[in-house]
Amino acid sequence: MSTKLKIAVQKSGRLQEDSLEMLRECGVRVDNGRDQLKVSASGFPMELFFLRNSDIPQYVADGVADVAILGQNTVTEKEKDLEEVLPLGFARCRLSLAVPKGTIYTGINWMQGKKIATSYPNTLHAFLKKQNIQAEIHEIAGSVEIAPNIGLADAICDLVSSGNTLFMNGLEEKEVLLKSEAAIFASRNMKPEARELLDKLLFRFKSVLAARNNKYLLMNAPNEALDSIINILPGMKSPTVVPLAAEGWSSVHTVISEDRFWEIIDQLKAVGAQGILIIPIQKMIL
Ligand code: AMP
Repeated sequence: MSTKLKIAVQKSGRLQEDSLEMLRECGVRVDNGRDQLKVSASGFPMELFFLRNSDIPQYVADGVADVAILGQNTVTEKEKDLEEVLPLGFARCRLSLAVPKGTIYTGINWMQGKKIATSYPNTLHAFLKKQNIQAEIHEIAGSVEIAPNIGLADAICDLVSSGNTLFMNGLEEKEVLLKSEAAIFASRNMKPEARELLDKLLFRFKSVLAARNNKYLLMNAPNEALDSIINILPGMKSPTVVPLAAEGWSSVHTVISEDRFWEIIDQLKAVGAQGILIIPIQKMIL
């Protein structure tokens, strides 16, 4: 039987939807339901394992799955030695310490002797140890943010993305222990055939990520403005310039990165570009 790459994804939870969407964009289709533990994919020699988020690092460490899509924070917490192969840019969050609003917080020493509720005891323990803080860690599985209100803890250590949950529960973020996003993690003892498949899959992932981070930009400009426009455009390669039917005008095409585009559009308009179009790129082969 030919080798398939065994990939673990969340059975349910925040990362599942985006993980499957990324795989879809990489041409991997999962046809028969997510209710099963193990599903064969089409479009790539791959088998998907739908597993509990917190169990996944162990499965990958043991080589039951070759790779996984996981939050970096989960791998840190489970203290498994996995290879981080590619960060994916979604499920961004941070693990933070928060205290009730109005607390006179004097810095990390405030935590000395306090009770801290968390679902991330290992990461918290390592952080406190490094800071020379002795505190009582209360491990709870969920709804950590209510712990101070019900008198269970003085502070919490939890994941934050928008900060809305903290705000709604009258808590203030004080220390960031780590920043996290979803990433592809690989087992350290993968068979060479699986590694080859992973490399093929990574090529697809990178093309999808590059496309997400870049836009195709088209504009019309009077020929006198072309030099200024070309100077403004960050050069991946030099832009394509095509003459228009209207005398003295050209169309300029290029690719720009998502983070820079508003700033660049303003500059282009200022030097005379018109009819600017920004078009999403489906895949970008690097
Ligand atoms: P789950 O608890 O299974 O829904 O997934 C939790 C994972 O989603 C975490 O381990 C993080 O990697 C990620 N995540 C991103 N933002 C947040 C957030 N604000 N709260 C909880 N988890 C988050």
